Amino acid sequence: MRILVAGGGIFGLTAALALRDRKCEVTLVDPGPLPHPLAESTDISKVVRMDYGADEDYTALGERALARWRQWPELFHETGVTFLSRARMEPGGFEYESYELLRRRGHPIERLDATAIVRRFPAYRPGAYVDGYFNPRGGWAHASGVVAKLAAEATARGVTIRAGTIDAALDGGEADLVVVCAGAWVPLIVPELASSLGAVGQPVFHLRPPDPSLFEAARFPVFGADISRTGYYGFPVDRDGIVKIANHGTGIALAPDATRVVTNAQESELRDMLRDSFPALVDAPIVFRRLCVYSDTADGNFWIARDPNNPKLVVATGGSGHAFKFAPVLGEIIAAIALGEPHPLAAKFRWRPELAVRGSEPARYRGEP
Ligand SMILES: Cc1cc2nc3c(=O)[nH]c(=O)nc-3n(C[C@H](O)[C@H](O)[C@H](O)COP(=O)(O)OP(=O)(O)OC[C@H]3O[C@@H](n4cnc5c(N)ncnc54)[C@H](O)[C@@H]3O)c2cc1C
Repeated sequence: MRILVAGGGIFGLTAALALRDRKCEVTLVDPGPLPHPLAESTDISKVVRMDYGADEDYTALGERALARWRQWPELFHETGVTFLSRARMEPGGFEYESYELLRRRGHPIERLDATAIVRRFPAYRPGAYVDGYFNPRGGWAHASGVVAKLAAEATARGVTIRAGTIDAALDGGEADLVVVCAGAWVPLIVPELASSLGAVGQPVFHLRPPDPSLFEAARFPVFGADISRTGYYGFPVDRDGIVKIANHGTGIALAPDATRVVTNAQESELRDMLRDSFPALVDAPIVFRRLCVYSDTADGNFWIARDPNNPKLVVATGGSGHAFKFAPVLGEIIAAIALGEPHPLAAKFRWRPELAVRGSEPARYRGEP
């Protein structure tokens, strides 16, 4: 089978590799270079975790992905992850439900109270967070490094990577199947999905702390700072002395190809958060900022499905700000669904135009990147 994959981010590259493994002839088109500077998958780091509230599907998928991430030690750093709350964890809350589900699944989760938080993580303002947990299983991946690795692997395994774009789904020419994995740009290629997929800009900040020792992974692991309420999450200091903090909140709706600028309001909100949570960072210079754009679905679940009205078209996107961590297992899901095989997650990721993204509540997964 001849397959054209549009998009060289994590969805496109993993799909291309998995389809190649199934002996398909695969051409991947992307304007490039890869990693593409505007792509969501391009970044210094992405959170890798299995903590997904009460959702067993994503938790199980996260467990499987984690086992694979450990096979890429040059790109994955298992610092553990901590999700902290300004108030006592309560049933129904992301932190509480994650804690309960992960314990039930046998993971060595450690609950932390206000005293333990400050003792373990001295960068936190005493009393700012009063409950939460530390999960030693999880961490962060060097995102752009992963994309570069997958692109090289795809070429080595016979995927033709071509610089260019497809402008319409039917641009596939002689391909038997077109798999559109163009992230936030998908509605430009498949206009009928414009009400189901929303481009949403989220701010990313790189800070250079004067004293990086406070932010080393052993005492500043990947974190969610009361994330369901604030949207803030971040990473330990990296080898370049950078602490990345980003927000996974409502974000800013914009056109996929609009100019992307972090607003002054987003920057002052960050400073307020630092003042309240990490006093040692409040005056740290921001050495880089970026508005990165999600491909959002109304329910926060991925969109991986064949077009019921066009047997030649498959759309795989809708990462909704949380798909990168599944890179090691994503391709096989896309390949199975693209080739019409049954898959346990096909219903969750189905073609669902009845769910409109505009006007709907921010994706219910908001608060967990
Ligand atoms: C700020 C931010 C932080 C995030 N943090 C995390 C995190 O910590 N953990 C996590 O798991 N996930 C995270 N995510 C989500 C994750 O990064 C995405 O879900 C994932 O990378 C999406 O991959 P993609 O392949 O769909 O899109 P992209 O990576 O955006 O790739 C799409 C590709 O399509 C190409 N393209 C565009 N138009 C065309 C066309 N017409 N023809 C051909 N190609 C085209 C582009 O050049 C691009 O390379 C985050 C996302 C953002 C924005």
